[in-house]
Amino acid sequence: MKSYKLLTPGPLTTTDSVKEKMLFDHCTWDEDYKRITQKIRAELLRLAHVQEPEYTVVLMQGSGTFGVESVLTSVVGPEDRLLIVANGAYGLRMENIAQHAAIPYLLYEKKDSERPEASEIAEILSKNPDITHVSMVHSETTSGILNDIRSVGEEVKKAGCTFIVDAMSSFGGVDIPAAEWGIDFMISSANKCIQGVPGFSFIIADTKKLEESAGKARSLSLDLYDQWKSMNRDGKWRFTSPTHVVLAFEQALEEMEREGGIEARGRRYAENNRLLIQKMKELGFRPYLAEEIQGPVITTFYYPENCHFTFDEMYQYIKERGYVLYPGKTVEAETFRVGNIGEIYREDIEKVAAIMREFLEDRQR
Ligand SMILES: *Cc1c(COP(=O)(O)O)cnc(C)c1O
Repeated sequence: MKSYKLLTPGPLTTTDSVKEKMLFDHCTWDEDYKRITQKIRAELLRLAHVQEPEYTVVLMQGSGTFGVESVLTSVVGPEDRLLIVANGAYGLRMENIAQHAAIPYLLYEKKDSERPEASEIAEILSKNPDITHVSMVHSETTSGILNDIRSVGEEVKKAGCTFIVDAMSSFGGVDIPAAEWGIDFMISSANKCIQGVPGFSFIIADTKKLEESAGKARSLSLDLYDQWKSMNRDGKWRFTSPTHVVLAFEQALEEMEREGGIEARGRRYAENNRLLIQKMKELGFRPYLAEEIQGPVITTFYYPENCHFTFDEMYQYIKERGYVLYPGKTVEAETFRVGNIGEIYREDIEKVAAIMREFLEDRQR
C-alpha cells in the first residue's frame, strides 16, 4: 500500500521513532514498565501546570471516548445533575453517554459555528441550582472551533460546580493551566496533540474530587477511581495495558519536549493552520468559522461555488498524491475538513495546496 500523511485530527501522522518503539513486546508486571507509566503520569501533570497532591493523573485503556465516558459515569452520582454544554458532535456524544448511563442531565446546545457564552452558562446555573457538574469540549473537532473554557470555568467555580473538560484535540497543542482555569477533570488521549498512537486516554483530575467518586462508577472497566487506586499505588494498570502504545507515548512526550514543549508545538500548529487557510482562500475555499473562533488544529471549509466534484473525487485525487483529508461533520452546511495536527510541517501545507490547485484545474478542463 502506498503511504500517505494524515490531515485528520487523530489518529494522526506520527514520527518513525515513535512507531519504532512499538517493536518491543514489553511485559507489564515489572518495575521498568511501572516506572514508565509513572513517568508518563508525572509528565502529564507537569504539562497541565498542576502538582500532586492537589491533582493526579489516571490513564485509561481505549480511545478518547472511553476516557470521557469513564469520567462522566464515575464522577456524576445518581443524586447529582450534569449540565452538558454542546456545540458539535463531541459535546452531543456526552449527552449520548449520559443517556446510556441514566445520568441526570440538562443539555445546553449551541450551533456548531458559535461559542457557548460564559454569561449564558452562568444564567443557566443560577436558574438550576440542582446542577452539580458542568461538562464541555474545549476544541470541538466537529467544526474546529476553540471554545472559551477559561471564562466558562470561572462561572462554574462561582456556582460551586465541578468542571469536566474534553480537551481531546487541544491538550498539548494549546496551553491549559488546569487549576487556574477551574478544571477538575480534563480528558485527552494518546493520539492527538502529544502525537502518540491510539490506545489509551488520560484524565488529569482534582484528587479530592476523584476520591469523592469512590463507589459511584456505573461500569467496572471504566471505573475511574478504581483505575486510579491501582495505578497510583505503583504504576500497575488494573487490566492489560496497551504496552506498545505506552512505549510509543513515552517517546512522543520526549519528542514534544525536544520540539520545545506545548509552546513550540502550539506555534507550529497555529502557523500551519493560518497558512492552510490563506492558501485555501486563494483557491476559492471559504472557511466555515469566523477567524476569532477558529482553533489551531482543524479547519472546516465550504466547497467552492459552482463546484463540480464530490468529496470522494477530491479525497481520492489527493490521497493518491500522498495526503488524506476528512469529510465534514457539521450539520449546517456542505463542508469538508483539513486537519493540521501531527507530524505536519509548512512543506506539507504547501504541497497539499499545490495538489488541490492541480485538482481544481483538472476539474475545470
Ligand atoms: C477525538 C476526540 C474525541 C474522542 O474520540 P475517539 O474516537 O473516542 O478517540 C473526543 N472529543 C474530541 C473533541 C475529539 O477530538
